[in-house]
Amino acid sequence: MKYILITGVSTGIGHDLSKQFITNGYHVFGSVRKKEDAERVKSELGENFSSLLFDVTDHDAIKRSVDLVAGSIGNNGLAGLVNNAGIALTGPTQVLPIEVFRKQFEVNLFGAIAVTQNFLPFLGARPDCPHAPGRIINISSVAGKMAMPFMGPYSASKFALEGWSHALRRELMIYDIDVIVVGPGAIKTPIWTKADDPPPELSDSDYGRGMGNLRKEFFKQEAKAMTSEVLAKKIFNLFQASNPKTRYAIMNSKFTNYILPRILPDRILDRLIHKMLNK
Ligand code: NAD
Repeated sequence: MKYILITGVSTGIGHDLSKQFITNGYHVFGSVRKKEDAERVKSELGENFSSLLFDVTDHDAIKRSVDLVAGSIGNNGLAGLVNNAGIALTGPTQVLPIEVFRKQFEVNLFGAIAVTQNFLPFLGARPDCPHAPGRIINISSVAGKMAMPFMGPYSASKFALEGWSHALRRELMIYDIDVIVVGPGAIKTPIWTKADDPPPELSDSDYGRGMGNLRKEFFKQEAKAMTSEVLAKKIFNLFQASNPKTRYAIMNSKFTNYILPRILPDRILDRLIHKMLNK
């Protein structure tokens, strides 16, 4: 039996990824924040799923789950860790309370770091480890390479996640533990509907038109988005690859949504985005 830990499995990408790994013979330890979700996901995914109850911002709760995993896997170790849990907080920097930025970083960056620190010994980061080294997948985003206006908190957290991932990958070479970044584009999941609607005072502000148009653009993108089932299959395949790349950008319409904007000079992209959002 191979074991993998995936954070944030109550919905979306984490849920489908758990299903994908279980279908392919793995036992998944999946983190959820609520007991009801633990019971629901267990009933959906079956006996090869074990829930871990922690919020990634609660470092004591993460530590408590270490014993549970250690007791179940014995000397087998973890074949993988997927840092997937995340939230998307958005809004214009001028009016966003700084706490919003802090919360975004607590979940998307510090949460992933805390989970990784706690489980690294089980992935093989220790002397004379009796099992093969595991792999870490950090779920970033297209927003970890390109920043749209009003996406400051989210983009900053994903850029930071990518910077840390590069450092970690090079640190862990002494143990042969690989670190792979996956940067999906638009994926059909509940993440964007969980975000609060902008308060009315923002809609009436100078930023109102741009924010409104960005929301419309998101809904257009969502209609054409990749499903999380398809993404999960692709992540499973790259996890198994014998010679994986360090980063994978996965999305529909990749040329228009990723390749082209990254070729264009920043100032040209600025003007195109400005025109699109302020028409
Ligand atoms: P989702 O909202 O369906 O899933 C997010 C998961 O993270 C949920 O299980 C949620 O409970 C968990 N989570 C949130 N805050 C947490 C916390 N503090 N502690 C523990 N768990 C927490 O959304 P998703 O789209 O499946 O997102 C998964 C990952 O994919 C995120 O990191 C997100 O940034 C990234 N991503 C999503 C998209 C997209 O378009 N959906 C695109 C690129 C990247």
